[in-house]
Amino acid sequence: MTSERDIHIKTPAEIALMREAGRVNALALAAVKELLHPGVTTADLNAAAEEVLRKHDAYSPFYHYGRPPFPGSICASVNEELVHGIPGERKLKEGDIISVDCGAVVEGYIGDAAFTAGIGEISPTARKLLDVTEQALHVGIALMRAGNKTGDISAAIQQFVEGSGLHVVREYTGHGVGRKMHEGPQVPNYGAPGTGVPLRPGMTIALEPMVLVGTHRTRVLPNQWTVVSADRSLTAHFEHSVAVTEGEPLILTVP
Ligand code: MG
Ligand code: MG
Repeated sequence: MTSERDIHIKTPAEIALMREAGRVNALALAAVKELLHPGVTTADLNAAAEEVLRKHDAYSPFYHYGRPPFPGSICASVNEELVHGIPGERKLKEGDIISVDCGAVVEGYIGDAAFTAGIGEISPTARKLLDVTEQALHVGIALMRAGNKTGDISAAIQQFVEGSGLHVVREYTGHGVGRKMHEGPQVPNYGAPGTGVPLRPGMTIALEPMVLVGTHRTRVLPNQWTVVSADRSLTAHFEHSVAVTEGEPLILTVP
């Protein structure tokens, strides 16, 4: 699972391009965030992200990815939908939470990031879920240092989330990112310290804690994409693409 396969160490010039892809991706996500009010459809959010990407001569690697081809440029996953929600005519309403995952390709390099946010007033359970998931991402990012192993990150995310009484997904993982959306190494959201692949400067990895309120178990809906919690409890997802450097971790997917 966390093998050395398909790991691509980036040069400083490649990191600079990935930083630009990450910047454009962050702008697209920021445009989506502005629209998060009751009545907006997930198709509106998709259109807003596409407009920003187009303006920067970028496009989303999600569009037509996989089989069946993914029909959106963002993933828009509402409430019990954990990841891979398909944008469409669904109208968001007060109290919903939505995960928006977006990718941007700039000169062949990919930024991959996601956030989850509430529509208007949300329940205390939803608020805690969002806070814990976002904090778990930053717990993981802080460990993205040369010499640490992927298992150190996985274990820290799992301990943080489970210590808060919530659950981490098993079937979907963080991953290397670069010219391809999914490179090695995989970085699961659970694991044991001291295991996995040693981090080296020039590695670029998308960390993405996916957290569920009631169970770690998931199902895939009949559309063959959308992943939901098996018990239909609330879920959340935050993601940044991050470069390992000689020093501090460098978050690529910020404005
Ligand atoms: Mg993503
Ligand atoms: Mg990802």
